[in-house]
Amino acid sequence: MLRAENIVKSYRNLNVLKRVNLEVQKGEIVSIVGASGAGKSTLLHILGTLDQPDDGNVYLEGYNLIRLKNSDLSKFRNKKIGFIFQFHNLLPEFTALENVCIPGYLGNRDEKQVEEKALHLLKLLGIEDRAHHKPSELSGGEQQRTAVARALINDPAVVLADEPSGNLDSKNAEELHQLFFKLREELGQTFIIVTHNNELASHSDRKLEIKDGILD
Ligand code: ADP
Ligand code: ADP
Repeated sequence: MLRAENIVKSYRNLNVLKRVNLEVQKGEIVSIVGASGAGKSTLLHILGTLDQPDDGNVYLEGYNLIRLKNSDLSKFRNKKIGFIFQFHNLLPEFTALENVCIPGYLGNRDEKQVEEKALHLLKLLGIEDRAHHKPSELSGGEQQRTAVARALINDPAVVLADEPSGNLDSKNAEELHQLFFKLREELGQTFIIVTHNNELASHSDRKLEIKDGILD
């Protein structure tokens, strides 16, 4: 479903990724760990088309992401890749429901369908009663769940999460991790999660480590 082949990435004389290979099946939850500065975010950005490798290829559902034209990239990304960051990055002026719907509207889908989908996701995530509140009125855990729903609104092929529980207390972090597994059960969703959280990393289907520019 996702395959990265021989990814190389350097910044000036710093070889961050030396020859990284990764293959992820549909419905897998893969965790990536590694020391600070090891290249975890760099790899996630390359898998998510936010950054280009110096060498190598990334295939997602048969598309070669490295070959996509710049003009097609943002549309492709919005449709096929869900992002969750350490900080939720919700738009403060909009309600939780609106935040979840916005990437769906950008995909030119029927508004009614997008809203129904968004409410369904908020329900799966246990926060449908918070749908009409703005981010500032939500708890940290609720904000991050809203960001998860937003990442899922376009049925992405893969969700890339960079320290999704890094800003949550241990109880909320644990609940968020449970939700990833629930979403996999309910939707067959695939996740690649960069995390410092050992518990999540050990619970995932596969735990990979980046060290000295190599992933294994
Ligand atoms: P991690 O996510 O594992 O903490 P990063 O992928 O953020 O690591 O960074 C890997 C290394 O590459 C770090 O040494 C970082 O300072 C460096 N780096 C990341 N992005 C850039 C950039 N745009 N320019 C120069 N160096 C960078
Ligand atoms: P994380 O801690 O989540 O790995 P960072 O704080 O290292 O993220 O990086 C945040 C952003 O800054 C990334 O987009 C990364 O590419 C960029 N960055 C990281 N290190 C450097 C650097 N030395 N020079 C320029 N940009 C950098």
